[in-house]
Amino acid sequence: MRQVLTTCTFCGCGCNLYLLEEGGKLVGVSPSREHPVSQGKLCVKGWQSFEFVHSPERLTHPLVKEGGHFRGASWDQALGRAVTGLQQIQQEHGRDAIAFLSSAKCTNEENFLMMKLARAVFGTNHVDHCARLCHSSTVVGLASTFGSGAMTNSIAELEDSDCILVTGSNTSEQHPQVASRILSALRKGAKLIVIDPRAIRLARLAHLHLRQAPGTDVAWLNGFMHVILREGLEDRDFIEQRTEGFEQLKKVVANYPPERAAQITGIPPDDIVTAARMYGQAKAAALVYSMGITQHTTGVDNVRSCANLAMLTGNVGKPSTGVNPLRGQNNVQGACDLGALPDVYSGYQKVTDPEAREKFEAAWKVTLPGEPGLTVVEIMEAAGRGEIRGLYIMGENPMVSDPDIRHVEEALSRLELLVVQDIFLTETAQLAHVVLPGASFAEKEGTFTNTERRVQLVRQAVAPVGDSLPDWRILSKVARRTGYDGFSYDSPSDIFDEIVSLTPIYGGMSYERLQAWGLQWPCPSKDHPGTPYLHKGQFSRGLGCFIPAEYKPPAEVPDDEYPYILTTGRVYFHWHTGSMTRRTAVLLRESPSAFVEVSPEDAKGLGIRERERVKVASRRGEIELEARVTTDVPPGVLFIPFHFYEAAANLLTNPALDPIAKIPELKVCAAKIEKCQ
Ligand code: SF4
Repeated sequence: MRQVLTTCTFCGCGCNLYLLEEGGKLVGVSPSREHPVSQGKLCVKGWQSFEFVHSPERLTHPLVKEGGHFRGASWDQALGRAVTGLQQIQQEHGRDAIAFLSSAKCTNEENFLMMKLARAVFGTNHVDHCARLCHSSTVVGLASTFGSGAMTNSIAELEDSDCILVTGSNTSEQHPQVASRILSALRKGAKLIVIDPRAIRLARLAHLHLRQAPGTDVAWLNGFMHVILREGLEDRDFIEQRTEGFEQLKKVVANYPPERAAQITGIPPDDIVTAARMYGQAKAAALVYSMGITQHTTGVDNVRSCANLAMLTGNVGKPSTGVNPLRGQNNVQGACDLGALPDVYSGYQKVTDPEAREKFEAAWKVTLPGEPGLTVVEIMEAAGRGEIRGLYIMGENPMVSDPDIRHVEEALSRLELLVVQDIFLTETAQLAHVVLPGASFAEKEGTFTNTERRVQLVRQAVAPVGDSLPDWRILSKVARRTGYDGFSYDSPSDIFDEIVSLTPIYGGMSYERLQAWGLQWPCPSKDHPGTPYLHKGQFSRGLGCFIPAEYKPPAEVPDDEYPYILTTGRVYFHWHTGSMTRRTAVLLRESPSAFVEVSPEDAKGLGIRERERVKVASRRGEIELEARVTTDVPPGVLFIPFHFYEAAANLLTNPALDPIAKIPELKVCAAKIEKCQ
């Protein structure tokens, strides 16, 4: 039996694990004891991360659709149809009539190639990926306040925080290794504040659990800052020396005394005062958040308010503090870093910046478009209007992950050409005209970047199944077929060298330097040791900028017809659209089907009993699923995990967007629930 050290393919914790290979097959997994995140531990998904690789449902050869049915095809036939189709659409309708969706599950090298394919080969900036749906508000919100849109500190540092504020993150289920560090901090005497409408597991261990009404985060954050200023708990020196915009912030938060914040959020005013004191008096307070903060029409305001709170108390630029957005997918940080976004090249260099554009034009020997492209949701809308006619999706499943799925399906069905590159015939791939079989994480080389900006190696343990190929090879074939000669890579390491030459934050990295547990960016030079925490001494943008926000209600609030707030999320046993975890026996056994959480008070009023079939509807659709009657949700709130296509939560969610980050409001919409007849 061979053991191959690699990086987990599920969440952004980035655990390292050994894939156990025997006779060309994966037979198990064991954790790495030395890895700075894993430390000999894995969550249930990591332990099971080998089974789906050999699923009989894996795509083993290309498919093309004819007469409404798929037939097997050679690589030559499938690539011919994909490339010719995309080129024809561009000839007839212009360069921007096609778009590309990259993947937070694929490697950094593959994301870099996808954005290079879109920009350098097909001449469009219409390239985006699912970070738009999870943390685009983080990228915008933290870039404008701090100058860098990433987790400021490292996972291990949480152990030494003396106050940890967790909001909008079901940490123990979705980022178990982060939760494990929070538990270590608790054992050392740290205070834990959880602010979440749901009674998540971590809330049971918290010194304070405050249950805000979904979509009211700006109000409690402003309330906290009001109390901190009223009681003189702000860090005057930090504010004076390291920040700008303080007077404006002071003016705005003056209007949020605890009583007003309580009225908006439903959190008792005394609890707001106690929690604000706890955070404001700590020596090293860390703020941890995830999609409960970002997936709102006020996502950017929420993130900026988190940044304001940290700056107000001097909790940035020091170990064990900071603003720590937990990135969801294994490589969502990397996909953003590598420029799979419509407005930036790798390293967040703006496509509108002539100097950056000239650099990439010189390297790629092409002329590049200078206008930002469309985002994921805008691409779907443009496809629905017939403006985007060709779409190339790598490793994403918008038919389950995007809001308002009915509209997504209509949009995808209107396309003249849909090319999907994936490891399974997902719900999205089923709508494609051409399907290209990619390789799983265990079948290829490359790098992933975890949530703490750690760039780590992915190592091949087994050969790709059937005729499938690593995604970087497929993208290279597509590019070469167009006649473009800038894709002659022999290995992912070649691609990484190009990334390094064009991306200052990765500038000092190489595969050799990544061997021992990777490096955290920024790592600008060959002798730079990497950066465990950001903004030491100076923010990436110079001075930290307070950008205050006023509270704005969610785009859709309950009314007589839809009297409940529906919020969505994940469960411990599944990952994202379930394409891998729902093909893993242990995980499927633990969590086989969709459910809606409803409070005992609401269930009683509606005559709904535990495990009874119910219908949940919003203005966009309805689904049938099982009821779970639980105090985990407060009265008036429903929770549905979004993994289950047969009862897809995203048939119901609201596609209303944050005006700046264009993230949809997946965490709040109005809904109704009733017993199935
Ligand atoms: Fe670690 Fe996340 Fe993988 Fe679990 S899913 S083993 S926490 S990287």
